[in-house]
Amino acid sequence: IGSIYENIQKSKKNLEQAVYDSTVDSLTNMFNRRKFDTDINALAINNHFFYLAMIDIDDFKKINDTYGHETGDVVLRTVCKIGHQIMGNTYSIYRIGGEELCVIYAGDDYQHFYELIDTWLKMVSMRAWRESDLHVTFSAGIATYNNEKPIEDVLIDADKKLYIAKSEGKNRIVGI
Ligand code: GH3
Ligand code: MG
Ligand code: MG
Repeated sequence: IGSIYENIQKSKKNLEQAVYDSTVDSLTNMFNRRKFDTDINALAINNHFFYLAMIDIDDFKKINDTYGHETGDVVLRTVCKIGHQIMGNTYSIYRIGGEELCVIYAGDDYQHFYELIDTWLKMVSMRAWRESDLHVTFSAGIATYNNEKPIEDVLIDADKKLYIAKSEGKNRIVGI
């Protein structure tokens, strides 16, 4: 009986590890693209209203080129860590691409959500890094989903806003 119990516990642990591995990005410990797709589709199926912030680190290629890929990785991890500290466990951060992050907010207090992203942006831009001349910023676009449009449109809309934020000088949020 003891060994059966042990085996069940072991299988349970293996399963939990497999779920973790398939939903979490190993570099940043944020949720991955697969988990992002699952989560927004679940919200859409339930006709659940939500806001989505799409975030992209500014001039990340230059950071890599100037300070090396490893510093780039540290920057990405640190930006995520700061976001997680601000957002807590209430909001999930997803790494949906190389240096692209998303936050989903399934509540209705837009101002509150905007301010969280804005706090994150300011904490990142004010941060002093080990490389004294390094400054890191990001840009963000916020879009909203309601059941009147397909889910893909939310991503397109957030991406458009992000593009505007970049073209207006980066280190800013373009909201709804
Ligand atoms: P922009 O301000 O317009 O966003 O410019 P950018 O340089 O950030 O954008 P671009 O898409 O040209 O470059 C993104 C770079 O991010 C290119 C790629 O090598 C780098 N990158 C993607 N994933 C990782 C990663 O996991 N680690 C590191 N160090 N670099 C990465
Ligand atoms: Mg990018
Ligand atoms: Mg970028």
